[in-house]
Amino acid sequence: MQKAVIDERNRVIAILVIAAIVGWVIDQLPWVLALTGIALAVHAIWHGSRLLDWLQGGAKPPPAQSGLWAEIYSQMRRERRASEGRRRKLLDMLRWYSDSSDALPDAALILDEHNTIIGSNQAARHTLGIDNKRDRGQRVDNLLRDPMLLTLLNDELPEPVIEMDSPVNAGDTLRLRLTAYGAGSRLLLAQDISEQIHNQETRQAFVANVSHELHTPLTVVNGHLELLLDDPDFTEVQREQLLQVSAQSNRMQAIVQDLLSLARLESAPSLADSAPVQMAQLIQLEVDTLLGSGRFSEHHVQCALDQNLQLLGRQTELQSVIHNLLHNALRYTPAGSTIDVEWSRLPSGRPAFKVSDNGPGIAAEHLPHLTERFYRADPGRSSATGGTGLGLAIVKHVLQRHGGELQISSIEGEGSEFLALYSVERATS
Ligand code: ADP
Repeated sequence: MQKAVIDERNRVIAILVIAAIVGWVIDQLPWVLALTGIALAVHAIWHGSRLLDWLQGGAKPPPAQSGLWAEIYSQMRRERRASEGRRRKLLDMLRWYSDSSDALPDAALILDEHNTIIGSNQAARHTLGIDNKRDRGQRVDNLLRDPMLLTLLNDELPEPVIEMDSPVNAGDTLRLRLTAYGAGSRLLLAQDISEQIHNQETRQAFVANVSHELHTPLTVVNGHLELLLDDPDFTEVQREQLLQVSAQSNRMQAIVQDLLSLARLESAPSLADSAPVQMAQLIQLEVDTLLGSGRFSEHHVQCALDQNLQLLGRQTELQSVIHNLLHNALRYTPAGSTIDVEWSRLPSGRPAFKVSDNGPGIAAEHLPHLTERFYRADPGRSSATGGTGLGLAIVKHVLQRHGGELQISSIEGEGSEFLALYSVERATS
């Protein structure tokens, strides 16, 4: 038992003993004891009610100098001081978090599991039109009405990132990213990417203009070179030099051609004129054309093509995917290699065009970069075979426009597999 409790017990016993002696002396023992008991009870109730008042934020506690009540009050004062310190620390921390989130240039919203806004920073006001005080407690999808935002919030996207029109400044574009944030909450970050898009468009327009300007002069130069090569007056040495000039000029023309194709793909936003394409026929035609050129007569090409599976898309673009993947498989594998070409529906229902070879393969570190412009895993072989370094970039773009993706796998020394996957909705039979 604590000392204060023992003291209090001894005090009560002493009071009762004194009251008993006084009562016995004046021959009024029951009355004196009863009155003493009532006085002790009133004293306890008075302290209890003062304590309650004090705890409820009211009057000061009575100035109990000693005893059980003094101990209770001082214990509670200590507790209060400690909790006040903790509260101040928490407030400081909250202020620090709020100041640092307000310093962020990007809008940040904290959402609960029902997409209700728990808090937002200052940037959210001018980027999304969401005010921390006014809109806290509202559902974000009620304030920002965009179908893509719903797919993002419902976790329906492979990557939790979308782009949407700014709800505040017409013509501006925002990139929104959703990340987990504590138990059940999520953080929605919004960044204004209008300037990035503008810069990208300027760069694309510049590349497209330069390519367009180079296209005609290069065609003329190539035409004249071909005529010169037919001229019997040139010596063998001169003819050899002309052939080298012609090869380089042809390469430049191929690059310009591919850059123009990429520029066209980038500037054409949607596939409004999709039509069913007989993919099996298109693939077979490309195989026959490439093998018929005589350059790959020692390659073995095995085709397994689903004749009934058609694809909704733009034929010229689909043809460039087929050509680039097939041509690469033939160019990057030595004579005698086997190339398997497949056009089929995968168990998932997605139509797929697969080209696999048993050539030298590609080292793992190159795989993530192969679709970047001008990236070459084997620069020597690419130039020697007339590569532009743009083929797989074109393939990636076309597939994106057709709701698909390119998957590349390879084992060095064993071969490579390029899988062009289209979306289920594009398949028709
Ligand atoms: P390029 O015009 O150089 O062929 P691509 O974009 O078509 O450009 O291909 C990028 C690079 O990928 C090539 O330079 C080559 O190194 C590599 N590559 C593509 N296909 C194959 C393949 N079937 N086997 C080995 N390497 C390949």
